[in-house]
Amino acid sequence: MPELPEVEKAMRRLRKAIEGKTIALVRTLHPALNRQLPDAHARRLKTRRISRVERRGKHQLIHLEDGSVLHAHFRMNGDWLISRTDGDPDRFTRALIDLTDGTRVELNDRRALSALSFHARADDSLPVLGIEANDPALDAEYLSKALAARRSSIKPALMDQKVIAGLGNIYAAEALWRARINPRAVASSISKARLARLINAIREVLGSKHRPPGRYTDKANRHRFAVYDREGQTCLVCSTPIRRIVQAGRSTYYCPKCQRS
Ligand SMILES: [Zn+2]
Repeated sequence: MPELPEVEKAMRRLRKAIEGKTIALVRTLHPALNRQLPDAHARRLKTRRISRVERRGKHQLIHLEDGSVLHAHFRMNGDWLISRTDGDPDRFTRALIDLTDGTRVELNDRRALSALSFHARADDSLPVLGIEANDPALDAEYLSKALAARRSSIKPALMDQKVIAGLGNIYAAEALWRARINPRAVASSISKARLARLINAIREVLGSKHRPPGRYTDKANRHRFAVYDREGQTCLVCSTPIRRIVQAGRSTYYCPKCQRS
């Protein structure tokens, strides 16, 4: 799944390719995308000028000059392909946006799980989101308040986009390992001192040079994670075998010794 750094990179590429330009045509090429963005909506986008592109969590928002918004989310493995309107779209392209200058943006997704939808106003285009994972204002005070009423385990709470926007499965596991916090610890029970450690760990994993956020479908990148997808392999700190559990339907990897409950 594209994590925050990949989505940020993709959004910047998109911004560079389309900001300030005018839409010539929006077309969906897959039934799942057509249900989200019916032809009637796609037609309304024609001749509209793109004023601004922004990211909120893992959501990408294409703001149009009239205040409407095209909302995109890559889900499991979407990406943008930037091409030209005179060529054929890629076979895995599910929707495309043609600009009047000949630029084409293709929403490329092998599994066609990505989301793309039109919203007449910006404020109805997004679910409620918490603070950005890379926002300097994220501190122990904020996190302590955000988790105060949470009786769930810390790992799923961290992945709740209402708590922190943009923190996904991989980096939640990696950050908890670095902060030596058990993923099953009750979210509201974690002290501010440990939350401060966790925030540092989140910053480290999101900014890490040693573990660049390559696609995790790329096997060559897997070893760059300390615990993620390393079940049975030894912990980099204490050599205890990494364990895998399932929390809220997602795999969690952790070291039972470093992250003792
Ligand atoms: Zn360990």
